[in-house]
Amino acid sequence: MAGGGGFIGGWLVKELLSRGNLVSVVDIKPVGEWSQVFPDALNSTKDLSMLENCIESTKNMDEVYNLAADMGGMGFIENNKAACMLSVLINTHLLMGAKENGVSKFFFASSACVYNSDKQSFTDVAPLSEADAYPAMPEDGYGWEKLFSERMCRHFYEDYGLETRVARYHNVYGPSGTWDGGREKAPAALCRKVANAKYSDLKTIEIWGDGEQTRSFTFIDDCVKGTLMLMESQVREPINIGSSEMVSINGLVDIIQEISGVTLTRNYDLSAPKGVRGRNSDNTMILKLLNWEPKITLQEGLRKTYDWIDQQVKIS
Ligand code: NAD
Repeated sequence: MAGGGGFIGGWLVKELLSRGNLVSVVDIKPVGEWSQVFPDALNSTKDLSMLENCIESTKNMDEVYNLAADMGGMGFIENNKAACMLSVLINTHLLMGAKENGVSKFFFASSACVYNSDKQSFTDVAPLSEADAYPAMPEDGYGWEKLFSERMCRHFYEDYGLETRVARYHNVYGPSGTWDGGREKAPAALCRKVANAKYSDLKTIEIWGDGEQTRSFTFIDDCVKGTLMLMESQVREPINIGSSEMVSINGLVDIIQEISGVTLTRNYDLSAPKGVRGRNSDNTMILKLLNWEPKITLQEGLRKTYDWIDQQVKIS
């Protein structure tokens, strides 16, 4: 598991171990900084942008999951485009290692940020189906890297027969995700701001943009389930793994306020990074090919996420 010290990787490791697999986890961060550590796994710290580390880490592996990337929410990706694009080294070198070591299946975590930004300019946007990635005009930096790496996976299958699976994740959230420090995404940032207000005299919340921008958010349990279903399938083309429950950022704040019992005055920062105007996942393809789609509602997922972040804020 490349990037297994991170949010999604950590939950995937947990599920793979519970299914009886032997799991080797590699991350650039020291093990003490991982979001979850499982003593039953083989845990190591390596920089997977280096080819020799990828060759060593993929030795004797049956499957490789690439969840490693230098990434974060809009605040990070809009201001760190070069760093985001350098993640291309991780996927490229992991593919080379997987090929050299005869790995049977390779997973790459792509993103809804690959979709053409012209198709995301309205709040009541049509859900994005897989074909909407082309003609290419993805999110600058981060999205271009994902789109390029998707194609590397495709060509490693076509040219070398390496079985690759690619998921386009749509805003994954849940407990153990990054919740502060600048890389956090909207659901975690808003849960933290509301919890901070709860434990202080703050009665206001700052929202990036006018709050009318729309998104869909995928709870981590659905993300893990979909990823493992995809790995077990014969689906070689990139596929959406995303909830189709679209909500505005204001709507998201409404739900978090209701869960926390805190009501705050909203201040809108119109100069803050806000990404595309609207985005949702079209799940026609996943329903057809995997006979499944993410099902966990925002109410349910945000309750679990808020409770976890509330605890982190309380003990910090
Ligand atoms: P995360 O930041 O929690 O995890 C990524 C991990 O990769 C981190 O632990 C980081 O230390 C590690 N990493 C970075 N550079 C590395 C390197 N050179 N060598 C080894 N490890 C390295 O992020 P996440 O939310 O768990 O995302 C996992 C993957 O899913 C990423 O590829 C991300 O782009 C993709 N994705 C996530 C979301 C989301 O909403 N969380 C949405 C779309 C796509």
